[in-house]
Amino acid sequence: MRFVVIGAGMAGVLSGIRLRQAGYEDWTIYEKGDSVGGTWRENTYPGLSCDVPSHIYSYAFEPNPDWSHRFAPGAEIRAYFEGVARKYGVLPQIRFKEEVERLEFRGGRWQIAFKSGRRDEADVVIAATGVLHHPMIPDIEGLESFAGACFPRARWDHSAAVDGKRVGVIGTGSTAIQITSALVPRVRKFSLFQRTPQWIAPQENAAFTEAEKAGFRGDRAGFRKMADELTRNFHETFSNGVVDAKSEQMKNLEAICRANLESSVADPVLREKLRPNYRAACKRLIMSGDFYPAIQQPNAELVTDAIERIEPRGVRTKDGRLHELDVLVLATGFRVDQFLRPMRVLGRDGVDLEDVWKHRPDAYLSISIPNFPNLFMLNGPNGPVGNFSLITIADMQLHYVLQLVEELRAGRGREISASESAMARFSEEFDRAARNTIWATGCKSWYLDSRGVPAVWPFTYQRFTEEMAKPDLAAYDLRG
Ligand code: NAP
Repeated sequence: MRFVVIGAGMAGVLSGIRLRQAGYEDWTIYEKGDSVGGTWRENTYPGLSCDVPSHIYSYAFEPNPDWSHRFAPGAEIRAYFEGVARKYGVLPQIRFKEEVERLEFRGGRWQIAFKSGRRDEADVVIAATGVLHHPMIPDIEGLESFAGACFPRARWDHSAAVDGKRVGVIGTGSTAIQITSALVPRVRKFSLFQRTPQWIAPQENAAFTEAEKAGFRGDRAGFRKMADELTRNFHETFSNGVVDAKSEQMKNLEAICRANLESSVADPVLREKLRPNYRAACKRLIMSGDFYPAIQQPNAELVTDAIERIEPRGVRTKDGRLHELDVLVLATGFRVDQFLRPMRVLGRDGVDLEDVWKHRPDAYLSISIPNFPNLFMLNGPNGPVGNFSLITIADMQLHYVLQLVEELRAGRGREISASESAMARFSEEFDRAARNTIWATGCKSWYLDSRGVPAVWPFTYQRFTEEMAKPDLAAYDLRG
């Protein structure tokens, strides 16, 4: 069987490793960029780190005792993925600078066409294309007229000087908060344009000492135990709490965030500007130990007046004030409903994914789409993107996908995809559960789909592990 994996980020590299371990040698990973790392290659903004502890944001089979910090910086994470890809011999099977333009299921196989003109064929396609990938460019009047450097956070322009300059950032998501902490000490004037305040949980990010790293290296079992405890703790205090808005975990989290705001922000006027009017973790929770100190520095300003327009010299707010800037960063998030798109994907009998997903993207257990046989998504629509480590998710999903592929290898059929009835049942149960989650408690966030229903796995971690342990083949249409 021949496999094509799309994307050489965290999940694509993992796919290569797991395919080889399962005994498959005929596979190619296609990557439109020029190196591995996905989001960790694309994002290079100042202050970038991962707010999931690095010891659990690692492949389970490749623990890293050398993380510099509890929450490692982005460049270190990218280097880790590249190192793993090299160590496991994945690099020679990646074709870089090859962007898939079209996937068509024809004659029982996937026909793959690339922007470069290349063509390929595969029995199975694994899409590891990521979620937070296509920057959302805000529709603000005059954006193109800005005379200084202006770019989205995922396309940081390192040729634009920021030291000693006047820098503005639009947005208050996890990204803007990290950029604020990193840039305030470097710039002359920092303006943070806030449309909605965020709850912020405190987070210390100590560097590991050499002695600690040596300890991790010397005691593999103890190291594993620590990572397992971190994982268990994360699931008990967070993952299983967010899916029940009434849970004790969510009440505790809210108390922690409120106490953080009260104790960290001295000026009562600024404190009220920073106080959200919705529940903690309704939007993607932000963790930071240095944002509140940074925004209180004399060279930092939290701008809460709405943006009227962008002018050549800066940002004009509705109160008539012009905030003069040299650099403007758009930390305005991503178009999260794209997944495989803008690829054109044609399934069985020419069914077009664009039509199937015209209202919103959907997939059975976030992996398989009816009538798109032998096409599997990692971190696809409606997955646990907001509640567990994406690496664990992708690995469990691969374990599941490889069991579906085993049906093909064993000759029990040639085409497998979720049945329409299983998809409909899953969607109905999903929607019902989604309404009980913290994400549905009345805020606006990227978790909500076009109907305003949270599009994130609304069940417990336990349920996810059970679902991924063994596919229910009755939910699949296996033919040929
Ligand atoms: P985001 O959370 O979607 O935040 C976008 C921000 O831009 C919001 O504050 C939004 O305001 C604002 N915004 C959007 N359009 C605007 C407009 N026209 N005018 C003014 N403000 C506007 O985006 P993000 O910060 O890039 O983060 C996306 C996700 O990436 C995170 O939620 C997280 O999952 C991931 N991430 C993870 C880490 C990590 O450490 N693991 C770090 C960074 C990002 P409203 O709130 O009013 O809509």
